[in-house]
Amino acid sequence: MSTSPAAEAARRRTFAIISHPDAGKTTLTENLLLAGGAIRAAGAVRARGQTRRTQSDWMKIERERGISVSASVMTFDHDGLMFNLLDTPGHEDFSEDTYRTLTAADAAVMVLDAAKGIEPQTLKLFEVCRLRDIPIITFINKMDREAQDPFELLDEVSSKLALDPAPLFWPAGSGGRFKGMMDLRSQQFIPYAKKSSTDEEGHPDPVAFNGNAIVQYLDPDERSELEDNAMLVTEAGKPFDVQSFLEGHMTPVFFGSALRHFGVDQLLAGIGAYAPAPKPAKASKAGAETHVAPGDNEVSGFVFKVQANMDPNHRDRIAFLRLTSGRFTRGMKLKAQNTGKAMSVNAPIMFFASDRELAEDAFAGDVIGIPNHGVLRVGDSLSETGSLRFAGLPNFAPEILRRVRVKDPLKAKHLKKALEGLAEEGVTQLFRPMIGSDFIVGAVGQLQFEVMADRLSNEYQLDVIFEASPYAEARWLVGERADVEDFENKHKSAMGRDIDDQPVFLGKSAWEIGYVAERYPKVRFERTKERG
Ligand code: GDP
Repeated sequence: MSTSPAAEAARRRTFAIISHPDAGKTTLTENLLLAGGAIRAAGAVRARGQTRRTQSDWMKIERERGISVSASVMTFDHDGLMFNLLDTPGHEDFSEDTYRTLTAADAAVMVLDAAKGIEPQTLKLFEVCRLRDIPIITFINKMDREAQDPFELLDEVSSKLALDPAPLFWPAGSGGRFKGMMDLRSQQFIPYAKKSSTDEEGHPDPVAFNGNAIVQYLDPDERSELEDNAMLVTEAGKPFDVQSFLEGHMTPVFFGSALRHFGVDQLLAGIGAYAPAPKPAKASKAGAETHVAPGDNEVSGFVFKVQANMDPNHRDRIAFLRLTSGRFTRGMKLKAQNTGKAMSVNAPIMFFASDRELAEDAFAGDVIGIPNHGVLRVGDSLSETGSLRFAGLPNFAPEILRRVRVKDPLKAKHLKKALEGLAEEGVTQLFRPMIGSDFIVGAVGQLQFEVMADRLSNEYQLDVIFEASPYAEARWLVGERADVEDFENKHKSAMGRDIDDQPVFLGKSAWEIGYVAERYPKVRFERTKERG
């Protein structure tokens, strides 16, 4: 096997799963790992999650509310390809985190509950994928339950997402009458056996739809219905076109039951065959725009997530670095573009499904975890020369602002450090008003405050109170320095600084911001901020 950076990158498939809570993302993740040979029995992902959860108190929220707050990555080698599955948090309050994770994915699998079709969160996440030109593979899950008419589901994909659905399979029935599915290209029928995924025998082997063996699985009515439907969908729909998929106009559609491990092997094969390998990434170098190709010699990447206390025995943070080029080897020195600081990456972590291991080498598309003491931040670009900067990891204007106080006033200094730590991780945003000694924290969703309070209490032994804040909206100020300073001086009571010391206008309402912005046309009031 060739190991040039270009050849290694070409066999990477880095993807995320997007779905509405309960559609089956966790179950599918687990079954993809099973299909990829990364784990031996279903239940391992959850079990692993459980041990982690019992070790880590702040994750109580996850357990109590049944949601997954933390994102991680799982790597597995299968069929000559290296799959990197990025896990995205499912709850809508964490859409910001999810957004950042999607910046590190080259493709997404959209899981739909066959009974529910496209749900609000699916739509939101889809829009993020579209914004980033991430091609989407559709998996219609829970076919073992009573499902909507598959034609209606496809109509929904096409009308709500403006995406051409191209089914590669067609189901025979659903729920109690679910019999399997036809591979529309090979005309093979894949029978479904109502067994659990832990059953050694699995599902029966495919048979030719037009052969004699089909009678074991479908009665004459079922058979002619499937034949009619398959004909209809083949004639009425557009055939699958990889180019159109890669450009974001078309989505290949798979059917199955993640829980029963049905259709998952086909999905994994589809990801391998169609999901793109890492592409050249846009970057800037010494102020000029450039493209970094996966096969370039210089090692580079960007941090899309920082997570603290993954291992309660170590207080370190892990920065997740998505590699964009080169051959990374352990012990290598990488420089951060914004600070120019070099760091030796001696203990990079690869997140294999079964365990965490030290990464000896890694290539474009891979994600490595770099333990550090808060030096690395979300959005940082790392490379050997330190001259590359990757764009596009925004912070979003928070939708909720709260004043935070610590019950024990002697701990105020401690609070500052803790809040800064959490802000650096991207858990919540932190603003220091120019006047007064308050800390204002901002979040996109209410749940972020709960996570924050829990972590402040467990990791920093700080009991905090969140109070109503006089501010409702935050906007980053952008413009000529003199104009921004002039504005700041005239609005001191409504000005603050964020964690990077950037000026932020703290408004009482969106209306006020509009009003003020109109009077200061030279200053822009931005809803997002790109770090760098
Ligand atoms: P997530 O919130 O998207 O991660 O969803 P989960 O994977 O936790 O699944 C939510 C619920 O749906 C769980 O009770 C699963 O057992 C169930 N589930 C997931 N996939 C299937 C499926 O294919 N068929 C059936 N019947 N249930 C499923």
